[in-house]
This record gives sequence, C-alpha cells and structure tokens, in this order.
Amino acid sequence: MAHDKEDKKNAQPRYSNFINGKFVDVTGEALEVRNPANGRLLGHVPASDAKTVADAVAAANAAQGAWEKLPAIQRAGYLRKISAGIRARRGEFARTIVEEQGKVQPLAEVEVDFAADYFDYIAEWARRLEGEVLTSDRVNETILLLRKPLGTVAGILPWNFPFFMIARKVGPALLTGNTIVIKPSEETPINAHKFAELVAETDLPPGVFNLVSGTGAVCGQALTESPKVDMVTFTGSVQTGIRIMETAARNLTRVNLELGGKAPAIVLADADLDLAAKAIHASRVINAGQVCNCAERVYVEKSVYEALLEKLKVLFAATRYGDPSEDRTLDMGPLINQAAVDRIVKMVEQAKTEGANVVVGGKVDDQKTGFHYTPTLLSDVTSDMDVMKRETFGAVLPVMAVSGLDEAIALSNDSEYGLTSSIYSTNINSILKATRELKFGETYVNRENFEAMQGFHAGRRKSGIGGADGKHGLYEFTETHVVYMQG
Ligand code: NAD
Repeated sequence: MAHDKEDKKNAQPRYSNFINGKFVDVTGEALEVRNPANGRLLGHVPASDAKTVADAVAAANAAQGAWEKLPAIQRAGYLRKISAGIRARRGEFARTIVEEQGKVQPLAEVEVDFAADYFDYIAEWARRLEGEVLTSDRVNETILLLRKPLGTVAGILPWNFPFFMIARKVGPALLTGNTIVIKPSEETPINAHKFAELVAETDLPPGVFNLVSGTGAVCGQALTESPKVDMVTFTGSVQTGIRIMETAARNLTRVNLELGGKAPAIVLADADLDLAAKAIHASRVINAGQVCNCAERVYVEKSVYEALLEKLKVLFAATRYGDPSEDRTLDMGPLINQAAVDRIVKMVEQAKTEGANVVVGGKVDDQKTGFHYTPTLLSDVTSDMDVMKRETFGAVLPVMAVSGLDEAIALSNDSEYGLTSSIYSTNINSILKATRELKFGETYVNRENFEAMQGFHAGRRKSGIGGADGKHGLYEFTETHVVYMQG
C-alpha cells in the first residue's frame, strides 16, 4: 500500500527505547509501524542493534540485586501501580491495539482489562511464594528448599496479543525478583512503548523493566545470544522457537517457549450442536483466527456431520469483518500482513486441489482496504491435507467426519502440535475418556478455547517447553536453592 503523501502530511511519533529508567533515542535506522486495516503510518520505533541490547541487559543486571532484596509484597506494590496505570489509560491502550494489530475494539478492551487483572492476580502471590522444609537423613540437620529468582529475563513477544503478552512476561518475572528486558514484535511495538511511558510515571527502580524494539534477526537474536540473560521467555512461532532454543543452547540459557498450535475440536453425536457450532465459530473468528489456542480443525461424528456443517455455514456466512477503527460492532478485523494472506491463500488453494469443498468464503476480499481473507468453512477434507496439519492462523475452519471418539482422539494426537484441544459431548464417560487420552496442554469441554490466568498454559510436542499462568507458570521464573542446615 502506498501512502507516501499521507505519511508526509501526518508527522507520526518516533518512539524511544526505555533503558535504565530513561527513554533513550537510537539514531539510525527505524522501523515503520502501519495499521493493517488501512495501511496508515502509525509511527516509527528503533531498530536496535546488539550494542543497545547489551546496554539494556547491563541495566537489568545492575538493578537485579537490589530488586531481589525487596520483600515480595513491596514488589507487588509496584505491579499494582502498573495495573492502576493500565486502567487509567484503558482507552488509549485499546485504541493502540486496534490500530496496530487490527483487533476489534471490544476484544482490544478485553485484552487491556485482562492485562490489568493479570498484574493484580500476580501481585496476590506475594505472600504465597513458598519454599519447602525437608527432613534430613543426618542427625541435627534440616534441608531447606529456597525459591530464588533467575536473575535477568528476556521477554520476546508476538503480535497477536501484544499488550497481554507484556503482562504475562513482566508480572511473574518482577514479582519473583527478576529484572526484565522486553522486545515487542516489530508488527506491534507501539503499545509496548506506551506501556513503558506508564512505567516511567511510576517510581519503579531504574533498570527493573527495560524495553528495546527491533527486528527478530538483530535485536531478538542479540537478546538470545547474551550470556548475561538468565532466561529467554518467548511466545511466537515454532520456527523462531527452534532458532531461539538453538541460540540459547550455546550459553545453556534457560528457555520458556509458548509456540504455535493446531487445536482439534471433537464434536460427538450427543453434543449440543448449537453450543458446539457457536463456540467453534467464535473460537475461529476471534482476532481473525490469529490465536494460538483456538480451534483449527474439527472432527465430528458422521451422523451429525451435515447438521453441524449447516449450523457453521450460517455462522460463517454472517461473520462481519472490516476496519475495526471504523466500526466497533465487527466480528473480526484484518490479518496482520500480506504474508499471512499469502500463507492462507496457498493452504486453501492446495486443499481445494486435493478435494476440499469451500462451503463459505475461500477468497481474498480486495473490495476492502487491508489484509482481508473471507471467513472460510471447508468440508470434505482429509487428515493428510496441510490445512488439517499445519497452523493456518486465519479464519479458516476445515471440518472432517470421523467414525467416533477413538478415531477423533487418534487423529487429534497425531500432530506435531500439542497446545489445546476441545470436546463437545453430553456423555460424561466420553468426556472423561477424552481427557485421559488427549495429549495436549489444555482441553476445553463444551466451551470455547480461552484460558484463565489461574490455569497453566503450556504446549506439548512442538507447541512449546514450559508454560505460563497460575502457580506453576510463576515458578518457571524461579530456581531452587537447597540449603543443608546442621545444628
Ligand atoms: P514470530 O515467531 O514470527 O515472532 C515472534 C517474536 O520473535 C517477534 O518479536 C520477532 O521479532 C522475534 N524473532 C524473530 N526471529 C528471532 C530470532 N532469530 N531470535 C529472537 N527473536 C526472534 O511469531 P509471530 O508471528 O509474532 O506470532 C505468531 C505465532 O505465535 C503463532 O505461531 C502463534 O501460534 C504463536 N503464539 C503462541 C502462543 C502461546 O501461548 N503458545 C500465544 C500467542 C502466539
């Protein structure tokens, strides 16, 4: 999209990195940020180099000792100031998410509220961080298991929930006594720079939270290569996750990886089909299908295949999409960029040549500005098609008939991904069998796929290593120090 004239007219802000409590200008190259719904230039962020990354890591290292020494309840006080700041700027953050990511406004507001709640939830853990006291095999000895922070954490973020991901990394890292350097996605960095403005308004000690913007290849790579980083917590694609793990291995730096998914939804003949159709449709169109844990493939029992397809057809055909800045009632906004459109076109066209039937959609919408692919429902798919195997990350739903629960579970598990799964049934025995046999980090029963902050969001197989949320997610930011006490 060429917008040169308009760009010159609207002098857009140039954001700065936030290092050691100060906004630091980076001269030289800057990255453009554009609205995916209309191509408008939103601003520029630094394309940070390895030297800038090293400065941010050094600031985080220097601040860590004093931060760790503060009682956890005081660290929690800073998190509460951050959550209050988020609530005070709710409208501004939501607008930024709509503009740079293309989310519909109500969902952007949910994301901002969820981030504020997340900081408060994590703050509640301040008085609950626990070690253990063990008996020893020796006389007059007690063994203590102390929970200690890791040191400095690097948080590398994706674009699909750009604001919530900040909360998910920063909250637990800080509460447990770590300091952090965040690198937002180059697609959606502005909300992170606005978050830094909020942090700067609090009295959080300098160096505890730092932000550097830049490309994955330079800025993200430098963070991952740094021997002064104690853990890289990354959310993004499998491909980048593998690269990060390979790089981190050189220093044996710990990694926490939240990667892609290909979530199966199983619909049995005894399911409430209206509920299943609504939940699966909602799960597929939310954020234009760009959510790691949402239903990407459906296995439905043969006897209700046609009935479910009919209900999904009505819902997909009625899905409203467009520029979310102009209409807050839309179901979904645009895809993030042209590469996403190209990936989806390729997968759907290939599925068609292999025999899939397009029930609804199946084309690029070039009547609208922005990166729009029509909400798409596919039938007559087979399990060897790419659209049933690889992450689509768009509002495309393939539906396949199966003989029953056993086949549905076997096909669900036969995947390189293992993040989330769901089942729709009214039979408790079928549900229990599925929860026993599905090999996934999460299973949603008779509801849409959306995790809770007190749960544990973790992928099996190539969907990741380690997890986030709840007590178990919090403790991923700690290590255990054993003390043998004689006397
Ligand atoms: P991505 O892997 O393209 O990029 C994510 C981040 O990694 C960006 O900040 C990018 O700059 C950085 N990066 C790229 N190359 C790097 C390198 N060599 N070293 C260090 N950093 C590098 O992912 P994306 O397109 O932003 O996000 C979409 C993906 O994220 C999807 O696959 C989705 O399923 C996944 N995701 C997973 C979860 C989860 O919790 N499991 C949540 C949201 C998104």
